[in-house]
Amino acid sequence: TAPIISTNNLDLYYGDFQALHQIKLAFQENEISALIGPSGCGKSTFLRCLNRMNDMIDGVTITGAVNFRDQDIYSPQTNLVDLRKEIGMVFQQPNPFPFSVYDNITYGLRIAGVKDKQKLDEIVERSLKQAAVWDEVKDHLYDNALSFSGGQQQRICIARVLAVSPSVILMDEPTSALDPISSANIENTLLELKKDYTIIIVTHNLQQASRISDRTAFFMEGRVVEYDDTTKMFVNP
Ligand code: ADP
Ligand code: ADP
Repeated sequence: TAPIISTNNLDLYYGDFQALHQIKLAFQENEISALIGPSGCGKSTFLRCLNRMNDMIDGVTITGAVNFRDQDIYSPQTNLVDLRKEIGMVFQQPNPFPFSVYDNITYGLRIAGVKDKQKLDEIVERSLKQAAVWDEVKDHLYDNALSFSGGQQQRICIARVLAVSPSVILMDEPTSALDPISSANIENTLLELKKDYTIIIVTHNLQQASRISDRTAFFMEGRVVEYDDTTKMFVNP
């Protein structure tokens, strides 16, 4: 079947320094793909190309193609707000906005003009349940999101992405700032979410990649040196 996101001949330069070399990868729907490799090999840089999070940085030059379904996301016709609704991102450091859980989750929807309180309530509940944090926050929806633990904040951030019904969720080391239990909870949540979403996750944790991902891309010095089914990549020789 056709991939949901693919890249072809993707090069990225920070000034004169070439951080990505001819990246050609294709991601299938409803799979978790892990991007692994040593620090500085270009994983985050690549991830950010997939929803154009880095093309506004001064001195960055990107050539090649990134396709989301049939659309070249670097074409001038692309509406970035629409694109980022389809392709959401979760960062390493939980970064809820400094206001209530409810307002965090409904932020994107209200920007999109959704006003119906009942509809907003439904989406808040659905998103927080999908992110497996509903039970913990349902009696505190109007508390500041920053008053929760790191693991809870990260799940609130995942819910905030889910609220706008994306197709793809990009995650940049989403558990590396968390304790082991919160991290395991998020891994389990991702395994549930892949039924409905495509997930591309940067991780420096090879065990995490082997536990949760269907496919793994191994980056080295800005190149993809291996990309295969995770079960094949992690077999002992
Ligand atoms: P990884 O995520 O694998 O650790 P990065 O994508 O963060 O790697 O970085 C890849 C390379 O690009 C590194 O050499 C890094 O120093 C460089 N780099 C990352 N961001 C910038 C930037 N904004 N300006 C200049 N160089 C950068
Ligand atoms: P409903 O009342 O609609 O059946 P649930 O409250 O059972 O919804 O939650 C829906 C899904 O979210 C279930 O899979 C449940 O396991 C999961 N879930 C909800 N809250 C949490 C939580 N705090 N931790 C883990 N999973 C949760």
